[in-house]
Amino acid sequence: MKAIFYEEHGSTDVLQYDDFDDPEIGPEEVLVDIKAGGLNHLDVWTRKGMPSPEELPHIPGSDGAGVVSEVGERVTQFEAGDRVVVEPGLYCGECEFCRKGEESLCVDYKMLGEHVRGVHSELAAVPETNLIELPEHVDFVTAASAPLVFQTSWRMLMTRAEIQQSDSVLVLGASGGVGHACVQIAANEGCEVFATASSEEKLAHAEECGADHLINYEEEDFDEAIKELTDGRGVDVVVDHIGEATWDNSLSAAARGGTIVTCGATSGISPETNIPTVFWKQLDILGSTMGTPGEVDEVMTKVFDGTFEPHVREVLPMSEIARGHEMLESREGFGSVVVVPDSDYDPGEYE
Ligand SMILES: [Zn+2]
Repeated sequence: MKAIFYEEHGSTDVLQYDDFDDPEIGPEEVLVDIKAGGLNHLDVWTRKGMPSPEELPHIPGSDGAGVVSEVGERVTQFEAGDRVVVEPGLYCGECEFCRKGEESLCVDYKMLGEHVRGVHSELAAVPETNLIELPEHVDFVTAASAPLVFQTSWRMLMTRAEIQQSDSVLVLGASGGVGHACVQIAANEGCEVFATASSEEKLAHAEECGADHLINYEEEDFDEAIKELTDGRGVDVVVDHIGEATWDNSLSAAARGGTIVTCGATSGISPETNIPTVFWKQLDILGSTMGTPGEVDEVMTKVFDGTFEPHVREVLPMSEIARGHEMLESREGFGSVVVVPDSDYDPGEYE
């Protein structure tokens, strides 16, 4: 088969698209003929070796969709020809957290494409439990762009922050993958949604996703803008996946008794925290990562029925994977970048 892979960590120069041994399936695995793979920032971090996968050469890619071509002897839910979406979370099923139904807290939690080989290849061997049936009316490209960011956003807002209709929710970096999903989820719950982005074009996109208030963080401090828009009160929930560059302002933008929820720190991992702000305002600071199988099912059902719309910015042949990574790193535009095996790539299809 052809696969995207790299033999060492580094710049986009290490990315190859070439012949690779076909994967072999275990008894509980399914061989998927991959039709589309969604890119995430995680792919960039892993390419750079932060974190390093268990084995090189590494095939990246956590998100994908395709058609089942072969099933292991103990597989019961799928058969050849089924359309499927890949859910990248791997868990042991036996530890105390898995037994409580908190699989994303698993002591051995791993991800396809990060710790082990991913799905940005013509064929991928995926555990049966990591596949979701893809309805006929949803195309592979849209489906492949959704699982990672939508489950992450759903767990952050619904399970961890427990947003209510009466809440005001600030989403930082609202035009990115997690950002645009969080805006849609909060708006769908009836929350008042505040969104930040770096350009008018990106803010217009956040507005389309359901944001009520738009803040260009290049032109004003977003915490000052929040105070003006809320008569000094602040917002109930802040979604901060930016980290060092925004942390202090996020604490400032939260209302008394407010919540900050984080799933990432793309700008840096060690901001200073003013502890008196935390206790005086009685803030809740919550971490969140990925989602449980139940949460994945819940949010993907809403992607499939059109409640949520993943935005796809560009579809590239897998041989242009370096350009895909560059688009993510430069933070130009908005929406997901999706790659398609060169043998299936038809540019006219993705206009
Ligand atoms: Zn476990």
